[in-house]
Amino acid sequence: MKELTILQKMLAAPLVGLLLYTGYMFYTFNEHNTNHSRMQKLQQDYLPVLEAISDNTILFDNLSENLKDAVLANEEEWVEQTQLEQERIENNLDILAQHPALVASEHVKQLKESFDAYYRNAVELSLAMIHQDKTPEQQMVMIERMEQYHTAVTDRFNQAKSDHEKTFVTLISDTTHSLNQLLIVGALMGLCSIFILIGVSVLAARSTRHSLQKVIHPLKDLAEGNASFDKRLVRHTDDEMGELVTWFNQLTDKLEQDYRAIEQLSITDKLTQLYNRTKMEELFDQELNQINRYEVPFSIVLIDLDHFKSVNDTYGHLTGDKVLQELAAVLKNNIRKTDYLGRIGGEEFLIIATHTNLEQCLILAENLRKKIESFDFFEVGQKTGSLGVATYHDGDDEKSMLQRADDCLYYAKEHGRNQVVSESVLEQSQEQQNSETEQKATE
Ligand code: GH3
Ligand code: MG
Ligand code: MG
Repeated sequence: MKELTILQKMLAAPLVGLLLYTGYMFYTFNEHNTNHSRMQKLQQDYLPVLEAISDNTILFDNLSENLKDAVLANEEEWVEQTQLEQERIENNLDILAQHPALVASEHVKQLKESFDAYYRNAVELSLAMIHQDKTPEQQMVMIERMEQYHTAVTDRFNQAKSDHEKTFVTLISDTTHSLNQLLIVGALMGLCSIFILIGVSVLAARSTRHSLQKVIHPLKDLAEGNASFDKRLVRHTDDEMGELVTWFNQLTDKLEQDYRAIEQLSITDKLTQLYNRTKMEELFDQELNQINRYEVPFSIVLIDLDHFKSVNDTYGHLTGDKVLQELAAVLKNNIRKTDYLGRIGGEEFLIIATHTNLEQCLILAENLRKKIESFDFFEVGQKTGSLGVATYHDGDDEKSMLQRADDCLYYAKEHGRNQVVSESVLEQSQEQQNSETEQKATE
């Protein structure tokens, strides 16, 4: 997965916050719209219907009273005048009929029928009583019937009122419920948002710390000197963290370069660019370790120029230096890649010939002697060298082998220079000397 930049990590929490806030705003907006349309409905429908119901109750009482008054006053005209109230009641019933959601149409229909029946019967009764053209028995029947219709109309009015009240109460409780819910959801979302924001912030902080640690650990290793130069960090992002990784890698490159240069300097002889004494000692150890493990023979050659002092004395030190550099090149060009060559003293050179026994090493040394002899040195011309050769024997160490090679070299110098002397020659001469001393003693 692609790693997030520092900026993206920092923006993660506010973005989540914005997302949650937007969600809540949508929800609030939606609830507000629902409540708003409920209130509009209340204004447009509920109030006129409520008015019509209340108006009808009063009108119906008036109408009944007016009919009674007309009978008492014997005024036929007054009966006719009740038509005004009847019409207004009919109009109000039409309003109810237009709102079946508030008062059931079935109930409005029943109310209308009851009222019509009541009014017809009440007018007929009132006129009969005024004209006195009905027998008292007939009038009694009509009065009973009219009372029944009156009760029916009152019941229907109450039914319509209760229908309306029920829907009104539902509307108000829906609105209250919605407002309560808005409050609860708001509080819960606020709480959740805080937890989510803390969570996202912690994740972002941990991720940033993790990215930083990827650089801190190698940096610490580098500072403590435990770094291996073969590793580089991978840049994942284009931000400051990526930049840090790039600069870290460049710093490691630079340190590695410097380290390699110092390492090279510490093992190199400045004048000849061959290995120095320290490195040759290290390689000697390495060979001794290997021979103890694999029993592969190795030999050494010590080389020293003959009468070199006279070069310095005659031509000066700089020429002497040049001769040493040329000698180094001659030696280097005439050994195998697997042999080690170093300058271990003023004009003394050492070769560690790996996988080489005494016999093979003598051939190598003799070849080198000839090459030195035949080389035309700068300003100086012809020069010769003396070489001492020793090979490894059980129990040998660096000191003992070098001592033997040095003895050989000394022997070569003593016996006319420009020659290779091996430890076997030295042994023979030693034996000869011993026998001579023994002979003298017996004489
Ligand atoms: P021999 O044949 O017995 O070896 O005689 P030699 O004159 O070569 O004697 P020796 O090997 O003892 O001489 C060493 C001389 O090498 C002494 C010193 O002046 C010279 N020398 C040592 N190091 C350097 C160097 O770095 N540059 C130069 N130009 N001369 C050096
Ligand atoms: Mg010397
Ligand atoms: Mg010398």
